[in-house]
Amino acid sequence: MTAESAGAVSGSKGTIRVLQLYPRDMNIYGDWGNALVLKQRISWHGYTPELLEYNVGDEFPADVDLIVGGGGQDSGQLVIQDDLQSRAGLLKELAEDGAPMLAICGLYQLFGRFFKTHLGTVIPGIGILDVETRGTDERLIGNVKVATEEFGEILGYENHSGQTTLGPGVRPLGTTAKGTGNNSSDGHEGARYKNVVASYLHGSLLPKNPAIADFLIRTAAERKFGTFEPGAPDDRFAVLAREHAARRPR
Ligand code: GLN
Repeated sequence: MTAESAGAVSGSKGTIRVLQLYPRDMNIYGDWGNALVLKQRISWHGYTPELLEYNVGDEFPADVDLIVGGGGQDSGQLVIQDDLQSRAGLLKELAEDGAPMLAICGLYQLFGRFFKTHLGTVIPGIGILDVETRGTDERLIGNVKVATEEFGEILGYENHSGQTTLGPGVRPLGTTAKGTGNNSSDGHEGARYKNVVASYLHGSLLPKNPAIADFLIRTAAERKFGTFEPGAPDDRFAVLAREHAARRPR
């Protein structure tokens, strides 16, 4: 596909369409910032970003290249559950086909098999990820450091009641060096499957962890254009944000 046929503006390497899932109901602790970082870094890499939103009842946009979804309270997860189920087939197909996706906290849980809330309500997930989540009366709150092979050290903030157990179909994103992550016993945080990255971390995640943003952008470009030509992102603020986040107490 030429840059022209991909809807590129002149001088651009092509357009990358980023879809934010349910920003109206699933968007806490600055998760919106993930979409903004992708937009900025896509531009820095010389591509044209197009930021789209999908909320309950909307028509699902065509030709989406990268999907991000944020966290939410149990009540927000209940609001989106039926609509999410109606999009399960489509989202699963995209994930299986290698579309890059970032699912944070509440949507991480619902990308899995189910989330049983601390009140006992079972919210079905869409089964992209082989994980199960059960709420408890203990909330896991605080700053987190995660060691990963793929993205180096990841920094963020967690606040969830759900404890997530990973099945054999996924691998953990990393190992928690500070904080809890998936659950109180395994010492793991997040999940990885194909080009899906799932994490409990807010903050938002991508401003402090540009390696993950660039992985998502690279994957989107390679999938769409067959190749990714990186640009020269300005990482000064990311470096400062990382230094600051790394100094925070739990
Ligand atoms: N409501 C879910 C929980 O408490 C997710 C929370 C979140 O997205 N921060 O586990």
